[in-house]
Amino acid sequence: MSDEHDQLRSVIKDCVHCGFCLPACPTYQLWGEEMDSPRGRIYLANQVLDGAELTAAAAEHFDRCLGCMACMTACPSGVQYDQVIEAARVWTEEARSGEPVPGTGPRDAGPARGAEAEDGGLAGVDGAEGPSARAGGTTDRSISPKGGADVKRRLRDRAVRAAIFSVFPYPRRLRALTGPLRAAQRTGLDRRLARGTLPDRVSPALGAALRLAPPRPREAARGVLPERVAARGPRRAVVGMLTGCVQSVFFPQVNAATARVLAAEGCDVIIPRGQGCCGALSLHSGRAEEAARFARRTIAQFERAGVDAVVVNSAGCGSAMKEYERLLAGLPEPDPTFALAGQEESVSWVARAGALSGKVRDLAEFLAELGPAAPRHPLPVTAAYHDACHLAHAQRITRQPRELLSAIPSLRVVELPDAGMCCGSAGVYNLLQPGAARELGRRKADAVLATGARLVISANPGCTLQITAELGRRGESIAAVHTAEILDASIRGLPAGSLGVR
Ligand code: SF4
Ligand code: SF4
Repeated sequence: MSDEHDQLRSVIKDCVHCGFCLPACPTYQLWGEEMDSPRGRIYLANQVLDGAELTAAAAEHFDRCLGCMACMTACPSGVQYDQVIEAARVWTEEARSGEPVPGTGPRDAGPARGAEAEDGGLAGVDGAEGPSARAGGTTDRSISPKGGADVKRRLRDRAVRAAIFSVFPYPRRLRALTGPLRAAQRTGLDRRLARGTLPDRVSPALGAALRLAPPRPREAARGVLPERVAARGPRRAVVGMLTGCVQSVFFPQVNAATARVLAAEGCDVIIPRGQGCCGALSLHSGRAEEAARFARRTIAQFERAGVDAVVVNSAGCGSAMKEYERLLAGLPEPDPTFALAGQEESVSWVARAGALSGKVRDLAEFLAELGPAAPRHPLPVTAAYHDACHLAHAQRITRQPRELLSAIPSLRVVELPDAGMCCGSAGVYNLLQPGAARELGRRKADAVLATGARLVISANPGCTLQITAELGRRGESIAAVHTAEILDASIRGLPAGSLGVR
């Protein structure tokens, strides 16, 4: 048993089975099943650690977990459930995959082809990926659980997962898909298909993807951001900015607004070229080594940028980047050491991950620490603030966005009923578990509508897609924007209509 498994046992021992987490858990609320609660999943994980076979039913209970971490906020004993579900997802991927899971063991033959294609020139450089990366053993998280005969995913489910993970983390591939998507949106084909049953019969994930597809971004926000956006007025900080994969393709206006707000607050903003996925989607889906490859690449890019902080405007990405050290600590080092420029001592990837994670800040967290410099103009609108789970529960950031928003004159911010409950987005959960995700999306849309707000604010692209899709399905014209966009509009003195408020 490895140190990592000892650590997991110790986390599991912290659970005193009190059940306080059960009402906070969306899947327990949906199904009322003990094994679809945090306490039930902790019990199952303990059984697997004790050598029990991972049955199809147990794997399904792990798959159904949103990873929303509401249970961690609710738990009075401080149980680190994130560590439990991360390990359980790796076991589940190993047991349910009929083929080598990219990056879960010695079968892994090297970097994913996409990592070579969209690595920003970093593959094989600075130890970002090297031959020894391919020689590592099974991940330390892996216990190669014996799966029951029926645990393997069906061919269609494996194909869906393969398609998702060979497209979503790669902005260029994702962008290539937007051409046909926009053509379908222009002709109304997407709406006709989404209303019918054909896509769901081909694959529920395809039906979900059609329903969730975002509209074309506002024209003014399209285009590539420069590598450096200069501070306006006296420089107060030099920050790096993650552009992300889903964010950069579907919400370029959020990245543009983020850069403008940071510059207006006196930051030089460094936006490294060739950025890709930070690894969050893979990390939250049990693909630890794939996540590690993305993480190493991201670490190397921001090290070179020489910044005081790395600002992230996507809650899921920020949460994953703050976990880089723990992610890499459980995996073999690809290139034992790498001397940073100006350092005599060589530095391990784990240490580099720790250094980078220490600089990662969510946008709201960073701006609250920095304090406002740019004047705010009135924005007379009522907005509901949605707590993204990976911001509120995983990063415990709830106060800072509310403080930033409350400083905008004339903006009335209202709270959502049951604000801590997940909207069902949860990375790619809404594609992989579309039924549960839709029900949670419906509940969140009900909560938004109950407030009477004309605008909903979210700090995660997945939440924005999920909430917008459900409101749109009901014919509601409530705009959904990122915190960055509303701050940007206020600083620039734009009207609420510029945010899509009708
Ligand atoms: S992460 Fe969310 S869905 Fe999973 S057990 Fe915890 S509260 Fe339930
Ligand atoms: S995870 Fe925490 S809240 Fe849930 S049963 Fe265990 S100790 Fe209680």
